[in-house]
Amino acid sequence: METKIVKVDPFGRDESLLIPCAEVLRRGGLVAFPTETVYGLGANALMPEAVSRIFEAKGRPQDNPLIVHVSRPEAVAPLVRDISKAAILVMEAFWPGPLTLLFARSDLVPPVVTAGLPTVAIRMPDHPVAQRLIDLAGVPVAAPSANLSGKPSPTTFEDTLKDLKGRVDIIVDGGPSGIGVESTVLDISGPVPKILRPGGLSLEDLRSVLGEVEVASGIPSQGPPPSPGMKYRHYAPKAPVFLVIGSPEEQAEALRLHAAKHLLAGKRVLILSSSENLPAYAALKENWPESLTVLELGPREDLARVASRLFSGLRHGDETGADVILSESFPEKGLGLAIQNRLERASGGRTIKPIAEPPHKSPARPEMNVLLVCTGNTCRSPMAEVLLREIGKAECPEIGLNVMSRGTAAAGGMPATQEAMRAVAERGLDLSEHKSRMVSEKDLSWADLVITMTKAHKRTLVERYPSYSGKVATLSEASGGAVGGDVSDPFGLGDPAYLRARDELEVGLRAVCERIRRVTSNRDGGKQDEDRSGK
Ligand code: AMP
Ligand code: MG
Repeated sequence: METKIVKVDPFGRDESLLIPCAEVLRRGGLVAFPTETVYGLGANALMPEAVSRIFEAKGRPQDNPLIVHVSRPEAVAPLVRDISKAAILVMEAFWPGPLTLLFARSDLVPPVVTAGLPTVAIRMPDHPVAQRLIDLAGVPVAAPSANLSGKPSPTTFEDTLKDLKGRVDIIVDGGPSGIGVESTVLDISGPVPKILRPGGLSLEDLRSVLGEVEVASGIPSQGPPPSPGMKYRHYAPKAPVFLVIGSPEEQAEALRLHAAKHLLAGKRVLILSSSENLPAYAALKENWPESLTVLELGPREDLARVASRLFSGLRHGDETGADVILSESFPEKGLGLAIQNRLERASGGRTIKPIAEPPHKSPARPEMNVLLVCTGNTCRSPMAEVLLREIGKAECPEIGLNVMSRGTAAAGGMPATQEAMRAVAERGLDLSEHKSRMVSEKDLSWADLVITMTKAHKRTLVERYPSYSGKVATLSEASGGAVGGDVSDPFGLGDPAYLRARDELEVGLRAVCERIRRVTSNRDGGKQDEDRSGK
């Protein structure tokens, strides 16, 4: 299907371009258009075939009902059985605006719109383009968010185009949506009004008019969810999203460690940060300018700004090819309730907890698994293993390093060579218990970071286990060039060659640990700030 793009004045001042769009809508076509919350994908709500096409275009599950959009409050009456006093009160207070109300549906509303439910969800958007378009169409417009099902809702024309090009008749470009999260869905049928989905209208605002208002908590273990959309994977970019919790300082600290772990392993990382915590990621960014993106969502005190950038932030992960997205969390007041709801849904429950737990709990020191690889696993990598364990304790005590060594062509069960034992014994380390082992896929999957002695070892691993190639680095690479090239093989060359190899390993591994520590404690970031302010 060819999708027509119609660029209009965002203030709805020129309706000439909207008239044909409204005509397409009225006759059963699909038209995506901007609203003040997010972009919507609209169809004539009174035509079941047209509404069915929305589900097809989005890949939306059939049992997820749509919101019917009207351009004036009078349009509600024919769609519902009854309009309660409470409904009139909130409509007067908050319409047009980001508030969706549930009503008992009349026979005029086709069951496909409400997914067979006896209630219909209705709202009047506060966007001149949406209002004019619906008004000109002269029919109520069923419109879910204009994204492919499961993805974050689009807040710009560009994001809408990415998802729906070729799937709908028209996309109206009316500039970015202002609010950025979807409407608040409110059930006012019971004695106490209940928010089924937090959104663009805050709980505090609703309470100021209605008094008591409750927020539906999650999905009940039995029976249907209060708002069907809540049971679906939602707002999810391709990369897994991790949500960090705790005070702003705790969040920055925990997030840094997690980011460093992924970055050291060669992953691409997107951090969604509050404005306040941006400096906390400066050192990380300096170390990984290519593979780390830090996106500023906005100040914790300006949640409207955060909301408006949230979905494009999540979508940014797909655009930059991020392997993992790490997001801060925000205070649950005002729009924060909706922001946190979307972030929790996007993360699917993956949380990162503060590092320093209260003393009565076992300390949750972040851990990192490092695998060291040489050829026979009797000289270089066993020395590296005991050295790294020791250096790690001193150089980066904040992170728990688990260390193992393996060989790319190891005869299993061999002890370390006498020379290797003597070389590390000088450092008070013991290799007498070591038994050589061949590297396996299991070892690579265990490791966060694989360090090889030479380029050739790296090549061997990458060829043998291509899916883990992102984790593998030579010591020279992992140390940021602290050791020049390959750590040469001392086998058969006597004690002096082993001592040289040991010294080289010490230099390289110390640099690896320093890098880990520097980025995780963000020492450079802090220093830079001081430097700047001193100038
Ligand atoms: P969307 O427009 O994509 O944000 O989705 C609309 C959401 O509104 C659905 O996923 C539901 O959670 C909610 N909704 C729509 N109609 C009803 C209804 N009749 N009862 C409860 N929730 C509804
Ligand atoms: Mg949606």
